[in-house]
Amino acid sequence: SFLSFEGIDGSGKSTQARRLAAALQAAGRAALLTREPGGSPGAEEIRRLVLEGEPDRWSAETELLLFTAARRDHLEKTIRPALARGEVVITDRFADSSRIYQGMTRGDLAGTVDALHALMIGVEPDLTLLIDIDPEVGLSRAMARKGTEQRFEDMGLDMQRRMRAGFLALAAAQPARFRVIDGARPEAEVAAAVQDAVFRHLGL
Ligand code: C5P
Repeated sequence: SFLSFEGIDGSGKSTQARRLAAALQAAGRAALLTREPGGSPGAEEIRRLVLEGEPDRWSAETELLLFTAARRDHLEKTIRPALARGEVVITDRFADSSRIYQGMTRGDLAGTVDALHALMIGVEPDLTLLIDIDPEVGLSRAMARKGTEQRFEDMGLDMQRRMRAGFLALAAAQPARFRVIDGARPEAEVAAAVQDAVFRHLGL
């Protein structure tokens, strides 16, 4: 089974992805925790190219191609082999992040994102946990973390609000795939809601 976590920065999705992987392992299911951008050696190299270079190094289109290349490598080298071994794959971000970040934040590339996805990726997670949070709460959480989220701060609250709305619109359009989880609650409550949704989905 292929599961993804999505949400704006500071939503807590990475923490929740880790907790879910631990809960599945405790229930006796082999679970692989991975992330984007990255998740395979080649894709981690691309992550550094995109996230650690100067902000204007790549055009919006080139950046989308790099994220798509990274996703393709992640799929080939990490996700598909793990699914073939029968593991539950949990990825911290997948194509929905491109629909929002590459699709909305540097102009309207939504159509190009979808076209490239159809051509080069072509799969969706079986279940996507959208950890939904008010951007002001997410911002204060992200700022409390050390050495991270420069891109987040550059984006500003207004863009984060549009991104939150974008994620919620994706979820509304595909209710069978998405579960929207209120991420403003205490960490353990969010984890319980995530676990409930996933264990139901897996029949555990
Ligand atoms: O998930 P995480 O917060 O570690 O992601 C790191 C950063 O990568 C995000 O803040 C975002 O700026 C960027 N990103 C992106 N496009 C994606 C996925 C992530 O721009 N498809």
